[in-house]
Amino acid sequence: MSKTTQRKAVIVGAGIAGLAAARRLSEIGWEVVVAEKAPERRGGGYLLALTGLGYQSADRMGLLAALSARALNPVEFRYANAAGRFGYCVPGDTMRAVLGQDAVILFRGDIESVLYDAIPGNVDLQFGQTVDEITQDDTGVQVTLASGGTLTADLLIAADGLHSATRRQVFGPEKGFRRDLGHMLSPPPRSTSHPTAYPTAP
Ligand SMILES: Cc1cc2nc3c(=O)[nH]c(=O)nc-3n(C[C@H](O)[C@H](O)[C@H](O)COP(=O)(O)OP(=O)(O)OC[C@H]3O[C@@H](n4cnc5c(N)ncnc54)[C@H](O)[C@@H]3O)c2cc1C
Repeated sequence: MSKTTQRKAVIVGAGIAGLAAARRLSEIGWEVVVAEKAPERRGGGYLLALTGLGYQSADRMGLLAALSARALNPVEFRYANAAGRFGYCVPGDTMRAVLGQDAVILFRGDIESVLYDAIPGNVDLQFGQTVDEITQDDTGVQVTLASGGTLTADLLIAADGLHSATRRQVFGPEKGFRRDLGHMLSPPPRSTSHPTAYPTAP
């Protein structure tokens, strides 16, 4: 840690993790620079369920009300293959029963919007920015930006998503570090005689 009174963080990536970290660090008095590779906000994404640790974090960050205001209450979830052919559906009530009470169903882009809106104005959010070089010593971390500038910080957060280039720069190839959490996806049932199967897209 440097001996400056205000601590400084460089966050690589303005996705969900990057924006959440920026908000929290700024809130507790850190100076924060966020370097995002994309030229503008990346608000896309599909429907997902915010549960477990994500739900608890949103609650502790005071963002649950804003997220819940964007929640959807689907009647049913229909799963289709890449050709648009429906395989099966899950009734909304079943999904809600499985997820439990502490869950918000919403679009990934709405989580990004809520976080973005919650970022204090003093966070230096730089779009179209990447990190070329990272070095560290006992006093902190030095970050050379692709735009040419150099930043010295107490903390570097690699929030540049899956296959993070920043983590690769610091730790080496991800195959040595990536941990399989055992999640699995199942293909839809083949039989169209399944009671909840949809033979063709409506
Ligand atoms: C546009 C988009 C849509 C998504 N849609 C879904 C979805 O529908 N369902 C789902 O489950 N997950 C989705 N994800 C993934 C999901 O957001 C993340 O896996 C999860 O939220 C973890 O967040 P994260 O901040 O670690 O990563 P991400 O949300 O992936 O954010 C990483 C950010 O880092 C930026 N970045 C990448 N490389 C660099 C670099 N070298 N320098 C600077 N910035 C960099 C990316 O542009 C991105 O903004 C999506 C991600 C994105 C970016």
